[in-house]
Amino acid sequence: MSDPVSSFAELKLSTPILQALAEVGYETPSPIQAACIPHLLEGADILGEAQTGTGKTAAFALPLLERLDPAERRPQVLVLTPTRELAIQVAEAFQKYARYLRDFHVLPIYGGQSMVVQLRQLSRGAQVIVGTPGRVMDHLERESLDLSALRAIVLDEADEMLRMGFVDDVEWILDHAPASRQTALFSATMPDAIRRIAHQHLKEPREVKIKTATSTVQTITQRYWQVRGVNKLDALTRILEVEESFDAAIIFVRTKIATEELADKLEARGYAAAAINGDMNQGMRERVIEQLKAGTLDMLVATDVAARGIDVPRVSHVINYDIPYDTEAYVHRIGRTGRAGRQGTAILFVAPRERGMLRAIERATRQPIEQISLPTREDVESHRIAQLRQQVVDAIEAEDMQYFSEVLQQLAAENDLSPEEIAPALLYLAQKERPLQVEEQGYGWDVATAPAESGKRFDERAPRAPRFEGREERSPRHDEARPPRERAPRQEFGPGIKTQRYRIEVGRAHGVMPKEIVGALANEGGIDGKLIGQIDLFDDFSTVDLPELPAPLLGVLKRTRVRGQAIQIRPLEEGERYEKRRSAPRDAYEDRRPAREERAPRKRWEGGSTYRDSRSFGTGGEGRTRSEEGDVPPKRQRTEAFGDDRRPRGVSDRPRKPFGSERPAFAPDTRGTRPKTAFSGAKPKPYDKKR
Ligand code: ADP
Ligand code: MG
Repeated sequence: MSDPVSSFAELKLSTPILQALAEVGYETPSPIQAACIPHLLEGADILGEAQTGTGKTAAFALPLLERLDPAERRPQVLVLTPTRELAIQVAEAFQKYARYLRDFHVLPIYGGQSMVVQLRQLSRGAQVIVGTPGRVMDHLERESLDLSALRAIVLDEADEMLRMGFVDDVEWILDHAPASRQTALFSATMPDAIRRIAHQHLKEPREVKIKTATSTVQTITQRYWQVRGVNKLDALTRILEVEESFDAAIIFVRTKIATEELADKLEARGYAAAAINGDMNQGMRERVIEQLKAGTLDMLVATDVAARGIDVPRVSHVINYDIPYDTEAYVHRIGRTGRAGRQGTAILFVAPRERGMLRAIERATRQPIEQISLPTREDVESHRIAQLRQQVVDAIEAEDMQYFSEVLQQLAAENDLSPEEIAPALLYLAQKERPLQVEEQGYGWDVATAPAESGKRFDERAPRAPRFEGREERSPRHDEARPPRERAPRQEFGPGIKTQRYRIEVGRAHGVMPKEIVGALANEGGIDGKLIGQIDLFDDFSTVDLPELPAPLLGVLKRTRVRGQAIQIRPLEEGERYEKRRSAPRDAYEDRRPAREERAPRKRWEGGSTYRDSRSFGTGGEGRTRSEEGDVPPKRQRTEAFGDDRRPRGVSDRPRKPFGSERPAFAPDTRGTRPKTAFSGAKPKPYDKKR
């Protein structure tokens, strides 16, 4: 290890590869690449240890591509990866690097993809196969995968394959590959079990260890927030709102269920968020990753396994919403940001009882993690003001204002107003969906400003904003934690508006989600989302709190369909009893979730836009016994189905990006934003078109 290698040409890579690398934009080899490529070019076995994000893929892909025999159609290189996503990513990387190699074919094979398709692709021939161990075994057993011409095997993310229980499969595959092949094993960590495999299956491996996590971690700013007083969702909202560098985030939670729940809640707050977990089918998982890449999604709520290896450069933030179980998982998680030399930010939520893990993480990454406090209301407000100002200035520079100027003049002339009088009104309108003066809803202000030393200990699930008119039960704990100022019943609809609870004939058995009900009422009844109060879902019906609806409107709404059901809306009689009861047939979604009702699981929609759920709030909190639980349907699918038939073309199902200029750090949580957008959003907004 004398001089650092400063170019790929120095590594004696051939012209077509160098050309491809130049196009991809790699200038210098990363340390693991510089160290591994010469050995692999020589044909030696390699045991490589380096953190995620250090460029391991190219470290093996480039030299192995160099060693391919172009005349041979049978598979020559087999890469085993722990997940489907990674298989696809690695295959894509091969494809990129091999762009100028003739007749090159790489094929990802993984469970969940159609066997028929894979068999056909395999029979066409590919020099490089990238697959998950299970599916590779399947093909070897069927003899649809022929390893007789194999020259090299790569075990990528070996520690993760170990953790996922693939070791036996991997060893089985190694035993079925020609003994003459070259083997490279890469891993972020080197537990004993991996060493054992290396010694058993590798021939005099050259060991390459790239020290510590520094190359990844230095580009990642790590911070933590001590969970106290404010629930995690509110905290997240506040933190992200003032983050200057926010582009996209991966948010880690511990369970599959939690991915769905949190994604729903974020969506209800206006974020372009979706879940990704191991229960989603392959297509859905690929799609959400694509959507994240393309910018149609800004947040993925993920489990460790599902996010494994995701490489999307625009991910600016990793949020450890639930603390990871071990330090390795933490390192893998934060490796999802700071990709390709960019800056990234990792934020960790640490409950008081989790401080031990925080210290362990600091020791493992050999870096202190800085504690942050939540942005105050003033912080958020001044951030919004600054943003709005900037957007106004930008609009003046970027747009032709002639047309708007004329409209303004006309407005002024007709109403005998000066432009100075009109301008504030325009500002008011521009900020309406994301008010400059932040309301309390969804931010947990009061609690945050309560002094920490008041003696009251909050945990992450403590205070929720009060529910509508205090009509239903609250847990004693909830009351106790609620700060006094919020105790007064909230004026839900403003003075003078009488409210009524309505019953509609669509419920959980139909698979309905609160947002669909809001969407339908807003779209077809023209009801301002702000006026839509609490929604309770029951098995085959739901209740919604609304202002008293005039008879004609009621008539229209009766025929409105949600999830294929005419909702038949009618006022709930005084004292009318409605019991939760099980109804058959229930949809698959509910069926597979055990005894959900028994756990007080009514979903609520409250105050127009903030989705609430009567289950406990945090995802890792005590009292939740459900762990990685299966079979949650991909949520996107559900919302898409809704979006297609219920919304005017071109109207998004989420609030507009605030003020419509740059991609904002986030889309707002303002009460009623979504439904309002749903039916007023068709009109172009003044400064929207630039994007
Ligand atoms: P690992 O497998 O170690 O986690 P990857 O192979 O996925 O890392 O690479 C991480 C990111 O760095 C990818 O976006 C990749 O395109 C990029 N990258 C890899 N090598 C280089 C290089 N030499 N120069 C610039 N970027 C690179
Ligand atoms: Mg990798």
